Amino acid sequence: MLSDEPSLVERLLRHIAEIGTGTCSITDNSIAAERDPNVQQILAGLLMLHEDLQYAQQRQTLLLQDLREAVRARDDFLSIASHELRTPITTLTLQVDGLSRMLHDGAPAQPEKMARRLEITRRQVDRLAALVATLIDVSRITSGNMQLTRSLADLAEVIRSVTERFGEELARSGSTLDLDRQGPIWGNFDVSRIDQVVSNLLSNAIRYGRGKPIVVGARSLGTMARFWVEDQGIGIAPEHQSRIFQRYERAASSTNYAGLGLGLWISRQLVEAMGGMINVRSVADQGSVFTVDVPRAD
Ligand code: ADP
Repeated sequence: MLSDEPSLVERLLRHIAEIGTGTCSITDNSIAAERDPNVQQILAGLLMLHEDLQYAQQRQTLLLQDLREAVRARDDFLSIASHELRTPITTLTLQVDGLSRMLHDGAPAQPEKMARRLEITRRQVDRLAALVATLIDVSRITSGNMQLTRSLADLAEVIRSVTERFGEELARSGSTLDLDRQGPIWGNFDVSRIDQVVSNLLSNAIRYGRGKPIVVGARSLGTMARFWVEDQGIGIAPEHQSRIFQRYERAASSTNYAGLGLGLWISRQLVEAMGGMINVRSVADQGSVFTVDVPRAD
């Protein structure tokens, strides 16, 4: 007697075709309902194949999303970085052209004007050097090539020396600086990386500090050392406070404040590599305190 039921081969071919389109009508119940254990095994194998393929497809979708996100972040970064690099280069070109005219137009020497132009040139060269250093850090961190070099040092002294270097920038901004440290704070620190984090936080406090007083402090907390930078500037709204530690994330308007959105990300990576933590407390329009805790020794 001829049956209307599809043959085993037809059923298997149908299931294989389904799997090819990403669906599968085999269920645990339909497998259990089969009388022939060989058929049960074949169907279970097909169901497993379908599940494996689905899992691989989901992973591929996620990887593709990550990849698209990474390409978008890289493109954003390239456009911001090229803008940031172009600004000092434009200023440098103007200053160098001006200096060269002064030398060649036969007018009497104007040492004050030349000194002023040289000072602007120096500042722009520093700015370019800092930008390039930032780019090198980003590439080191993302490729996992950042290494710490610890040595016995007094953290209070490291912080004092950073603040000393910022004297001119502070004077230009109008902010005063109060150093609130109780030293010495001895520990095994990576001095140049600590210097970099303090410098990042202090240059932000100057940039976003509206010329108001700034406090830089340091304390020993048992096995940990703490330092902080406090300003009374534009502050950060609560919804932006965790975002600003991520790469390229900025909260301030780019019309009023230039920046790559990398300083805090780099600082956080460095502090975490040292086994420490960085956090912010801030009230919009009133100011911010960035606090860093790092272990004093390994
Ligand atoms: P940027 O180069 O943009 O300053 P950062 O990573 O150093 O990059 O900072 C990220 C963002 O965090 C800034 O764009 C700014 O919006 C905010 N921010 C950082 N420091 C301060 C501060 N002291 N006061 C107010 N906002 C700050």
